Amino acid sequence: MRNSVVAVVGRPNVGKSTIFNRLVGERISIVEDTPGVTRDRIYAEAEWLTTKFNLIDTGGIDLGDEPLLTQIRAQAEIAIDEADVIIFMVNGRDGITGADEEVAKILYKSNKPVVLGVNKVDNPEMREMIYEFYALGFGEPFPISGTHGLGLGDLLDEVVDHFPERTSVFDDDDTIHFSLIGRPNVGKSSLVNAILGEERVIVSDIEGTTRDAVDTNFSKDDRDYVIIDTAGMRKRGKVYENTEKYSVLRALRAIERSDVVLVVIDADTGIIEQDKKIAGYAHEAGKSVIIVVNKWDTVESDEKAMKNFEQKIRDHFLFLDYAPIVFLSAKTKKRMHKLMPKIIEASENHAVRMPTNILNEVIVDALAMNPSPTFKGQKLKVYYATQVGVKPPTFVVFVNDPELMHFSFQRFLENRLREAFGFEGTPIRIYARRRS
Ligand code: GDP
Ligand code: GDP
Repeated sequence: MRNSVVAVVGRPNVGKSTIFNRLVGERISIVEDTPGVTRDRIYAEAEWLTTKFNLIDTGGIDLGDEPLLTQIRAQAEIAIDEADVIIFMVNGRDGITGADEEVAKILYKSNKPVVLGVNKVDNPEMREMIYEFYALGFGEPFPISGTHGLGLGDLLDEVVDHFPERTSVFDDDDTIHFSLIGRPNVGKSSLVNAILGEERVIVSDIEGTTRDAVDTNFSKDDRDYVIIDTAGMRKRGKVYENTEKYSVLRALRAIERSDVVLVVIDADTGIIEQDKKIAGYAHEAGKSVIIVVNKWDTVESDEKAMKNFEQKIRDHFLFLDYAPIVFLSAKTKKRMHKLMPKIIEASENHAVRMPTNILNEVIVDALAMNPSPTFKGQKLKVYYATQVGVKPPTFVVFVNDPELMHFSFQRFLENRLREAFGFEGTPIRIYARRRS
């Protein structure tokens, strides 16, 4: 089930990113091992009590040289388009400014719930600053302090109260959800069309099922699929639609709803930095990944060219060593038939559960091959392992001291598990816990 989405809006310097960082805080830095991804802090998962939600800092989506007011308006529109609930932030010390009124005007027009946070109310004596903000017309203003972490609980209670009921028809576990991500012009839309135009594909309906994507349901060979189409959901005519941060946001939202993510690369132009960044998002989200090299018709396609290109991809995407690579052409349809089997396999591996006894046989064999390392004179003892989750497969290894489980040993275990079980396409996660 998809998380509700909350967007923080408000003019610059009211404290949006301070609040964003406080709410998503440590969660975001858990995953290392990924290049440069975690610095784009505009979208992340947060949690209040037992409710998880996704948070957008619209302040992080800037439009370059556009005038300030245009930017503020665009950010408010993004919030309306993307979020279930909007946190409208103002600065209690400044009172209501013209820019606040501009934001308010745009938010009135939407029917999204708005919760008004008055920031920089750093101590209880300052609480009376909030009263003038009733005039903005969004009901009770909530006094908060981003830097001191005050008042956030009450604010979030109110936010969570407005979350919509979720009754999704797409939560059928047998349906494979996948998306295509990649920079503009790599051929995402062409690929979607090529997939839907393939033999034996029955498109059941095409509709904008939610405002966040154009989902297409189809079936092929008795399997059901949903394509979450990031390319088809461009909103023509909005000022923000072509900004990089906004397309990143759309990609992240599509990834979040996918089981399998196709990272599309253009064989004609080769790999650039932006490709790596986009691929990093899929990896970080823990989704299965397939690297699709499109426009293979533009390359002299002998075995050697393929091997060379593959090596280039492996060098550039070290963190995606589990992702299969498919070379094809959406235009000529050549090798298109290679794609669906990979999607099926990657999705099955993403959800696979290993029996504990077989898992532990592999671990025992691994330990026989490579006795566990010592660190500061202490030796890591591995007792047993168990799979605690799927999507992606997640394992806990019980040890004498988790501190002794180093990255290289973890990597070694991962490789052994992959050799034994395959797991092609899916990341796997291994955590060490102290045996109690
Ligand atoms: P944004 O532009 O809306 O994202 O604002 P920032 O989060 O970058 O904050 C702008 C400035 O306000 C920074 O210098 C923050 O340290 C400061 N700030 C943020 N929250 C508070 C707060 O609760 N109290 C005080 N006194 N300063 C704050
Ligand atoms: P998107 O922006 O990623 O959705 O890319 P499009 O699907 O709009 O394609 C961008 C351009 O690449 C268009 O001119 C397509 O005709 C072209 N294109 C897409 N796939 C192929 C392919 O397999 N081979 C060649 N030569 N061109 C392609």
